Amino acid sequence: MTDACQRFLFDEADIRGEVVELDSVLESACEHHQYPLPVARLLGEALAACALMRATIKLEGQLTLQVYGDDDAAISLLLVHADGDGAMRGTVRYQGEPQRGGLHQLCGNARLAITIEPEDGQRYQGVVGTEEEGLAATLETYFRDSEQLPTRFFLASDGARAAGMLLQRMPQKTSEGESPAVDPDAWERVGHLAATLSERELLETGSEELLHKLFHQETVRVFEPRELYFRCRCSAERIASILRGLEREEIDKVLDEAGVVEVRCEFCGAAFRYDRVDVEHALADSATPGSERYH
Ligand SMILES: [Zn+2]
Repeated sequence: MTDACQRFLFDEADIRGEVVELDSVLESACEHHQYPLPVARLLGEALAACALMRATIKLEGQLTLQVYGDDDAAISLLLVHADGDGAMRGTVRYQGEPQRGGLHQLCGNARLAITIEPEDGQRYQGVVGTEEEGLAATLETYFRDSEQLPTRFFLASDGARAAGMLLQRMPQKTSEGESPAVDPDAWERVGHLAATLSERELLETGSEELLHKLFHQETVRVFEPRELYFRCRCSAERIASILRGLEREEIDKVLDEAGVVEVRCEFCGAAFRYDRVDVEHALADSATPGSERYH
Protein backbone atom coordinates (compact mmCIF):
# COMPACT_ATOMS: atom_id res chain seq x y z
CA MET A 1 0.00 0.00 0.00
CA THR A 2 1.63 3.25 -1.04
CA ASP A 3 -1.08 5.79 -0.26
CA ALA A 4 -1.93 5.32 3.38
CA CYS A 5 -2.11 6.88 6.79
CA GLN A 6 -1.23 4.92 9.91
CA ARG A 7 -1.89 5.73 13.55
CA PHE A 8 0.47 4.98 16.42
CA LEU A 9 0.32 5.56 20.16
CA PHE A 10 2.95 5.76 22.83
CA ASP A 11 1.45 3.51 25.44
CA GLU A 12 3.28 4.97 28.41
CA ALA A 13 2.75 8.62 27.48
CA ASP A 14 -0.17 10.73 26.32
CA ILE A 15 1.19 11.05 22.81
CA ARG A 16 -0.42 9.99 19.59
CA GLY A 17 0.97 10.03 16.11
CA GLU A 18 0.13 9.53 12.46
CA VAL A 19 2.39 8.72 9.55
CA VAL A 20 1.37 9.18 5.94
CA GLU A 21 2.76 8.16 2.58
CA LEU A 22 1.32 9.56 -0.65
CA ASP A 23 2.16 8.39 -4.11
CA SER A 24 -0.70 8.11 -6.58
CA VAL A 25 -2.72 10.78 -4.73
CA LEU A 26 -0.07 13.38 -5.53
CA GLU A 27 0.43 12.00 -9.02
CA SER A 28 -3.30 12.33 -9.75
CA ALA A 29 -3.42 15.84 -8.28
CA CYS A 30 -0.59 16.91 -10.61
CA GLU A 31 -1.73 14.94 -13.66
CA HIS A 32 -3.57 17.70 -15.49
CA HIS A 33 -1.27 20.53 -14.50
CA GLN A 34 2.28 21.46 -15.38
CA TYR A 35 3.24 22.55 -11.90
CA PRO A 36 6.78 23.86 -11.48
CA LEU A 37 8.68 21.58 -9.09
CA PRO A 38 8.47 23.83 -5.98
CA VAL A 39 4.70 24.16 -6.50
CA ALA A 40 4.26 20.38 -6.83
CA ARG A 41 6.38 19.86 -3.73
CA LEU A 42 4.32 22.29 -1.68
CA LEU A 43 1.11 20.65 -2.92
CA GLY A 44 2.56 17.28 -1.82
CA GLU A 45 3.39 18.61 1.63
CA ALA A 46 -0.06 20.17 1.95
CA LEU A 47 -1.79 16.91 0.96
CA ALA A 48 0.33 15.01 3.50
CA ALA A 49 -0.49 17.56 6.22
CA CYS A 50 -4.19 17.46 5.34
CA ALA A 51 -4.26 13.65 5.57
CA LEU A 52 -2.49 13.76 8.95
CA MET A 53 -4.90 16.32 10.39
CA ARG A 54 -7.96 14.55 8.99
CA ALA A 55 -6.80 11.33 10.64
CA THR A 56 -6.88 12.94 14.09
CA ILE A 57 -10.56 13.92 13.80
CA LYS A 58 -13.22 11.48 14.92
CA LEU A 59 -16.14 13.13 13.09
CA GLU A 60 -17.30 12.22 9.62
CA GLY A 61 -16.82 15.04 7.16
CA GLN A 62 -14.26 17.01 5.26
CA LEU A 63 -11.10 18.81 6.35
CA THR A 64 -9.80 21.56 4.08
CA LEU A 65 -6.44 23.29 4.15
CA GLN A 66 -6.32 26.53 2.16
CA VAL A 67 -3.55 29.04 1.67
CA TYR A 68 -4.37 32.42 0.18
CA GLY A 69 -1.17 33.93 -1.20
CA ASP A 70 -0.67 37.67 -1.24
CA ASP A 71 -1.16 39.63 -4.47
CA ASP A 72 2.36 39.43 -5.87
CA ALA A 73 3.01 35.87 -4.79
CA ALA A 74 3.68 32.98 -7.19
CA ILE A 75 0.82 31.05 -5.57
CA SER A 76 -2.51 32.82 -5.12
CA LEU A 77 -4.40 29.78 -3.83
CA LEU A 78 -3.49 26.33 -2.59
CA LEU A 79 -6.45 24.15 -1.74
CA VAL A 80 -6.49 20.57 -0.46
CA HIS A 81 -9.33 18.45 0.91
CA ALA A 82 -9.47 15.17 2.83
CA ASP A 83 -12.67 13.22 3.48
CA GLY A 84 -13.27 10.74 6.28
CA ASP A 85 -13.27 7.78 3.89
CA GLY A 86 -9.74 8.45 2.65
CA ALA A 87 -10.67 10.45 -0.46
CA MET A 88 -8.40 13.40 -1.16
CA ARG A 89 -7.96 16.12 -3.76
CA GLY A 90 -5.98 19.28 -4.20
CA THR A 91 -5.12 22.07 -6.61
CA VAL A 92 -2.91 25.15 -6.85
CA ARG A 93 -3.39 28.44 -8.69
CA TYR A 94 -0.03 29.92 -9.53
CA GLN A 95 1.68 32.34 -11.87
CA GLY A 96 5.14 32.38 -13.40
CA GLU A 97 7.71 29.62 -13.12
CA PRO A 98 9.09 29.72 -9.59
CA GLN A 99 12.32 27.75 -9.35
CA ARG A 100 12.60 27.42 -5.61
CA GLY A 101 10.95 28.14 -2.31
CA GLY A 102 8.56 26.73 0.23
CA LEU A 103 5.31 28.02 1.68
CA HIS A 104 6.48 31.50 2.62
CA GLN A 105 8.54 32.18 -0.49
CA LEU A 106 5.83 30.95 -2.86
CA CYS A 107 2.80 32.43 -1.11
CA GLY A 108 4.25 35.59 0.47
CA ASN A 109 2.62 36.91 3.62
CA ALA A 110 -0.19 34.44 3.27
CA ARG A 111 -3.02 33.26 5.45
CA LEU A 112 -3.57 29.57 6.04
CA ALA A 113 -7.06 28.38 6.90
CA ILE A 114 -8.10 25.01 8.24
CA THR A 115 -11.78 24.23 7.87
CA ILE A 116 -13.66 21.27 9.28
CA GLU A 117 -17.09 20.56 7.85
CA PRO A 118 -18.70 17.72 9.79
CA GLU A 119 -21.56 15.85 8.12
CA ASP A 120 -23.68 16.67 11.15
CA GLY A 121 -22.81 19.80 12.99
CA GLN A 122 -21.21 23.17 12.88
CA ARG A 123 -18.59 24.20 10.34
CA TYR A 124 -15.40 25.29 12.06
CA GLN A 125 -12.56 27.40 10.67
CA GLY A 126 -9.23 28.49 12.13
CA VAL A 127 -6.79 30.88 10.45
CA VAL A 128 -3.08 31.47 10.99
CA GLY A 129 -0.40 33.57 9.27
CA THR A 130 2.37 31.63 7.53
CA GLU A 131 5.75 31.15 9.21
CA GLU A 132 8.95 31.75 7.28
CA GLU A 133 10.17 28.29 8.26
CA GLY A 134 7.48 26.66 6.17
CA LEU A 135 4.27 24.66 6.26
CA ALA A 136 5.19 22.35 9.16
CA ALA A 137 6.16 25.32 11.37
CA THR A 138 2.98 27.18 10.40
CA LEU A 139 0.80 24.23 11.37
CA GLU A 140 2.67 23.81 14.65
CA THR A 141 1.92 27.45 15.47
CA TYR A 142 -1.72 26.93 14.54
CA PHE A 143 -2.12 23.94 16.85
CA ARG A 144 -0.28 25.66 19.68
CA ASP A 145 -2.23 28.94 19.51
CA SER A 146 -5.66 27.91 18.21
CA GLU A 147 -6.07 24.42 19.56
CA GLN A 148 -3.79 24.49 22.62
CA LEU A 149 -2.54 21.10 21.51
CA PRO A 150 1.25 20.75 21.31
CA THR A 151 1.77 19.19 17.89
CA ARG A 152 4.82 18.49 15.74
CA PHE A 153 4.69 18.13 11.96
CA PHE A 154 7.36 16.57 9.74
CA LEU A 155 6.65 16.92 6.01
CA ALA A 156 8.57 16.03 2.86
CA SER A 157 7.84 15.91 -0.85
CA ASP A 158 9.90 15.65 -4.01
CA GLY A 159 6.98 16.65 -6.24
CA ALA A 160 6.15 13.04 -7.16
CA ARG A 161 5.68 11.55 -3.71
CA ALA A 162 4.98 13.00 -0.30
CA ALA A 163 5.28 11.81 3.27
CA GLY A 164 4.64 13.17 6.70
CA MET A 165 4.45 12.48 10.39
CA LEU A 166 2.42 14.13 13.13
CA LEU A 167 3.03 13.88 16.86
CA GLN A 168 0.44 15.26 19.23
CA ARG A 169 0.42 15.53 22.96
CA MET A 170 -3.03 14.56 24.05
CA PRO A 171 -4.83 16.66 26.65
CA GLN A 172 -3.81 15.72 30.17
CA LYS A 173 -6.44 13.88 32.13
CA THR A 174 -7.43 16.25 34.89
CA SER A 175 -10.35 14.58 36.61
CA GLU A 176 -9.57 13.40 40.09
CA GLY A 177 -8.12 9.99 40.54
CA GLU A 178 -6.43 10.04 37.16
CA SER A 179 -2.68 10.18 37.29
CA PRO A 180 -0.84 12.57 34.98
CA ALA A 181 1.20 11.12 32.14
CA VAL A 182 3.20 8.15 33.37
CA ASP A 183 6.25 9.45 31.56
CA PRO A 184 6.45 13.26 31.82
CA ASP A 185 9.64 13.53 29.73
CA ALA A 186 8.27 11.55 26.82
CA TRP A 187 7.03 14.52 24.76
CA GLU A 188 10.48 16.15 24.68
CA ARG A 189 12.26 12.87 24.07
CA VAL A 190 9.96 11.67 21.29
CA GLY A 191 10.16 15.09 19.61
CA HIS A 192 13.95 14.97 19.66
CA LEU A 193 13.98 11.48 18.19
CA ALA A 194 11.62 12.53 15.38
CA ALA A 195 13.70 15.64 14.67
CA THR A 196 16.68 13.43 13.79
CA LEU A 197 14.77 12.43 10.68
CA SER A 198 15.92 13.94 7.39
CA GLU A 199 13.37 14.81 4.71
CA ARG A 200 14.92 12.17 2.49
CA GLU A 201 14.55 9.49 5.16
CA LEU A 202 10.94 10.48 5.70
CA LEU A 203 10.26 10.24 1.99
CA GLU A 204 12.14 7.03 1.30
CA THR A 205 11.38 4.91 4.36
CA GLY A 206 8.14 2.96 4.67
CA SER A 207 5.92 3.87 7.64
CA GLU A 208 6.47 0.73 9.71
CA GLU A 209 10.21 0.80 9.18
CA LEU A 210 10.30 4.50 9.99
CA LEU A 211 8.51 4.01 13.32
CA HIS A 212 10.82 1.17 14.23
CA LYS A 213 13.91 3.14 13.29
CA LEU A 214 12.89 6.21 15.31
CA PHE A 215 11.11 4.77 18.30
CA HIS A 216 12.40 1.22 18.83
CA GLN A 217 13.29 2.05 22.42
CA GLU A 218 9.80 3.35 23.16
CA THR A 219 6.63 1.34 23.67
CA VAL A 220 4.67 2.11 20.54
CA ARG A 221 1.35 0.61 19.50
CA VAL A 222 0.89 0.72 15.73
CA PHE A 223 -2.56 0.47 14.15
CA GLU A 224 -3.65 -0.86 10.78
CA PRO A 225 -2.92 1.47 7.85
CA ARG A 226 -5.91 3.20 6.27
CA GLU A 227 -5.91 3.63 2.52
CA LEU A 228 -6.01 7.07 0.90
CA TYR A 229 -6.95 7.79 -2.69
CA PHE A 230 -7.58 10.64 -5.08
CA ARG A 231 -11.22 11.36 -5.79
CA CYS A 232 -12.74 14.45 -7.25
CA ARG A 233 -16.24 15.58 -6.37
CA CYS A 234 -16.83 17.53 -9.54
CA SER A 235 -20.05 16.97 -11.43
CA ALA A 236 -21.94 18.71 -14.19
CA GLU A 237 -24.04 20.35 -11.50
CA ARG A 238 -21.09 21.78 -9.63
CA ILE A 239 -19.47 22.96 -12.83
CA ALA A 240 -22.73 24.58 -13.93
CA SER A 241 -22.48 26.74 -10.83
CA ILE A 242 -19.11 28.01 -12.09
CA LEU A 243 -20.80 28.87 -15.36
CA ARG A 244 -23.40 30.86 -13.47
CA GLY A 245 -20.60 32.87 -11.92
CA LEU A 246 -19.35 34.08 -15.32
CA GLU A 247 -20.49 37.20 -17.16
CA ARG A 248 -23.30 36.44 -19.61
CA GLU A 249 -21.57 38.57 -22.25
CA GLU A 250 -18.38 36.53 -21.96
CA ILE A 251 -20.32 33.27 -22.32
CA ASP A 252 -22.13 34.52 -25.42
CA LYS A 253 -18.87 35.65 -26.95
CA VAL A 254 -17.35 32.17 -26.51
CA LEU A 255 -20.53 30.52 -27.86
CA ASP A 256 -20.44 32.76 -30.95
CA GLU A 257 -16.81 31.95 -31.61
CA ALA A 258 -16.57 28.28 -30.66
CA GLY A 259 -20.15 27.00 -30.44
CA VAL A 260 -19.46 25.53 -27.00
CA VAL A 261 -18.20 26.73 -23.64
CA GLU A 262 -15.74 24.40 -21.99
CA VAL A 263 -15.28 24.52 -18.23
CA ARG A 264 -12.50 22.44 -16.77
CA CYS A 265 -12.37 21.10 -13.20
CA GLU A 266 -9.32 22.51 -11.42
CA PHE A 267 -8.85 19.36 -9.35
CA CYS A 268 -9.05 16.47 -11.82
CA GLY A 269 -8.91 18.19 -15.21
CA ALA A 270 -12.30 16.82 -16.30
CA ALA A 271 -13.79 19.03 -19.00
CA PHE A 272 -17.46 19.87 -19.23
CA ARG A 273 -18.79 21.27 -22.49
CA TYR A 274 -21.90 23.38 -22.80
CA ASP A 275 -23.56 24.26 -26.09
CA ARG A 276 -26.06 27.09 -26.37
CA VAL A 277 -28.96 24.93 -25.17
CA ASP A 278 -27.00 23.59 -22.19
CA VAL A 279 -25.97 27.10 -21.25
CA GLU A 280 -29.59 28.27 -21.21
CA HIS A 281 -30.54 25.35 -18.98
CA ALA A 282 -27.54 25.81 -16.69
CA LEU A 283 -28.21 29.49 -16.24
CA ALA A 284 -31.91 28.87 -15.71
CA ASP A 285 -31.58 26.28 -12.96
CA SER A 286 -29.07 24.22 -11.06
CA ALA A 287 -29.94 20.69 -12.13
CA THR A 288 -28.87 20.58 -15.75
CA PRO A 289 -25.85 18.60 -16.80
CA GLY A 290 -23.59 19.56 -19.69
CA SER A 291 -24.03 17.56 -22.87
CA GLU A 292 -20.66 15.92 -22.71
CA ARG A 293 -18.03 15.06 -20.17
CA TYR A 294 -14.64 13.78 -21.05
CA HIS A 295 -11.14 13.58 -19.61
ZN1 LIG B 1 -12.92 17.16 -10.92
